[in-house]
Amino acid sequence: MAYDDQNIFAQILAGKIPCKEVYKDEHVLAFHDIQPQAPVHVLFLPRGAYESSQDFYASASPGEITALARAVAAVAERLGVVKGGYRLISNHRHYAGQEVPHFHIHLLGGAPLGPMTSGK
Ligand code: AMP
Repeated sequence: MAYDDQNIFAQILAGKIPCKEVYKDEHVLAFHDIQPQAPVHVLFLPRGAYESSQDFYASASPGEITALARAVAAVAERLGVVKGGYRLISNHRHYAGQEVPHFHIHLLGGAPLGPMTSGK
């Protein structure tokens, strides 16, 4: 499937739509989710045009992959969720409920998060 370069996260990365920025570097942008599901809910995006974890982890450069992982660890530390615990989620396509077709990692924390899935 071709990457949709008009998706909302592509527009945020292009500076066309604002976000509540938490972190940025050459490879990564992180911002607060607009509909937080926990006291801390931050999204981490690679700047490159990747639809989901599948193409990102299969074809991104080691530098891009490392930058994303390091950004998660740094922001988790800065936002104070390391001690209490946090959850990372990446949804790939429809069974997982992916809404925005630009790869992103959700960081959720700041309170007990409940069961990992709906269990159905
Ligand atoms: P997913 O279902 O994994 O694709 O998650 C998409 C996430 O993007 C949801 O948690 C939305 O609340 C969030 N979202 C959608 N639009 C925006 C936006 N403009 N700024 C911040 N978060 C957004």
